[in-house]
Amino acid sequence: MIIKDQIIYAMGENKETAVRVPQNEPVTFHTRDCFNNQIDGEEYVMDGLDWDHINPATGPVWVEGARAGDVLKVEILDIELEDEGTMCCLPGDGVLGRDILRSSVKKVPVRDGFCLFDRIKIPVNPMIGVIGVAPAGEPVPCGTPGSHGGNMDNTKIAKGSILYLPVFHDGAYFSCGDVHACMGDGEIMVSGVEIGAKVTVRFEVIRGVSMKDPRLEDEHYIYTIASDKDLEKAVYKATKAMCGILERHLNYSLNEAGMLLSACGNLQFCQVVDPERTVRMAVPKTVCGWVLPELKTESSYNG
Ligand code: CA
Ligand code: ZN
Repeated sequence: MIIKDQIIYAMGENKETAVRVPQNEPVTFHTRDCFNNQIDGEEYVMDGLDWDHINPATGPVWVEGARAGDVLKVEILDIELEDEGTMCCLPGDGVLGRDILRSSVKKVPVRDGFCLFDRIKIPVNPMIGVIGVAPAGEPVPCGTPGSHGGNMDNTKIAKGSILYLPVFHDGAYFSCGDVHACMGDGEIMVSGVEIGAKVTVRFEVIRGVSMKDPRLEDEHYIYTIASDKDLEKAVYKATKAMCGILERHLNYSLNEAGMLLSACGNLQFCQVVDPERTVRMAVPKTVCGWVLPELKTESSYNG
């Protein structure tokens, strides 16, 4: 199944246009770059950008069987990149924003598994910047991350990883976009190598589990993810959630789980440049392989 010409700029309930998709089958999303494919060359003047139409996500789709209170499991099966990425920097934006005197654009060709940054070859790390479901309240612009996912810019949301998202509305209203051919953790200058792509995922609904914020696993690690305007609050939320996982699954007290995290948990930046910052806490699967809360029994499940 292919979803391509359906674009949104905010994640929210969208009963009229959401396409129904089944569970356990590959679904491919054709995604535009975060500039909505507006930047056609390095001479492009950033002032001309239509800022009301950036960070497009492709979707939303209505996932059959997903109900409010469930968890949506999203397996990232493949990310197929186009052949040229775009970067930019803007006065006032990003970690060095105060030092930037004028905006500029850089085109980065992608060839044979490398991003060609002038003569420097950077191995591609295709990742999905914007991915999420309709949030609990009002629609949230696709450029903003939160408990529903959104613009998390997490380098670990890549081929082979599995993202778990809380479901706030029946059908979930999943969408994704903003693929990067590569990005450094933190995304300090406000863009990765922004690029159009074909993203293939597979959905599964997990019932009887609830969680506040997205979680992720890849081959070797489990991750909690949290976003907040205040970076330290995001750090607290991601750490607290991982501590809870270790307490529950390894039967540790808070003190023990916290010391274990202090010994082998890696706190990592996703991005520090959006209005809400995003961080993750990583724990090796050799320590704990279980990222979800325990399944509630049917009788204790309250939807
Ligand atoms: Ca982004
Ligand atoms: Zn991006």
